[in-house]
Amino acid sequence: MKKAFVLLLVLLLVILAAAAQAGELRVDFYDMGKADAMLITTPDGVRILIDCGTNKGGKALAERFRKEGIDEIDTLIITHYDKDHVGGADKVLESVAVRQVIMPVYDKESKQHTQFLEALEAIPEITRHPMEIQSDMVMQSDDGVKLSITAAHRDSYGADEENDFSLALRLTYGETKFLFAGDAEAPRQLEMMEEGDIACDVLKVPYHGRLVSTSERFLTQACPKIAYITDSEEEPASETLIEILKSLGSQVYTSREDGSVSVISDGKTVSVLE
Ligand SMILES: [Zn+2]
Repeated sequence: MKKAFVLLLVLLLVILAAAAQAGELRVDFYDMGKADAMLITTPDGVRILIDCGTNKGGKALAERFRKEGIDEIDTLIITHYDKDHVGGADKVLESVAVRQVIMPVYDKESKQHTQFLEALEAIPEITRHPMEIQSDMVMQSDDGVKLSITAAHRDSYGADEENDFSLALRLTYGETKFLFAGDAEAPRQLEMMEEGDIACDVLKVPYHGRLVSTSERFLTQACPKIAYITDSEEEPASETLIEILKSLGSQVYTSREDGSVSVISDGKTVSVLE
């Protein structure tokens, strides 16, 4: 009887250990060239898509989702309305079921932005969360994943500085942290540092790896173990910026050289899926 009880206890512990191991968070950084699209999949299978690449990228993304049997996205987040982030959003909205969309609020006139709004208009059941200037929100799921989103602080950054309207996304799972910094240039990078600690294990490097006046400070504070840069042959990331990251001990991946990269977190450590 006693033996049976011990055996049962051991069995229970094995099951519990296996369950804990199964709790992995995955982030797929898709190779879209100099354009962003990243899919977060939480341990419970909640899917959060950040940006949709260009118009062409959106088609590739829809095709990839079809092949992988992904027909539902819980949350689509558009960091800002430049064509290399929102360009493929209409295609994604048309090809998979999206439950809610989170997007910044600022004036933008472009074909890609209009196409996104029209595609969104056509699906009234989607919940919309427009993020006004200076607003923030936190999403938390039962599996222990927390995503906090902050909007830009100012309503103007001058001409051609729409990158600074990028939403900042901080993802936490267990002890691991991810930061998705959109295309933040110096003013918005400063804001992100003011918003709180930007230290992270994984960083989606802001602004396609271009060097701006705040880059060194921003990267040093972030000090990621893994950094992913979305660049291209025509517009490669700054060598100086890559050197700064390497000097901090970061493993640096670029879409130009490494293509798509998937990162796994077990809540304690992060690793690149080989
Ligand atoms: Zn961009």
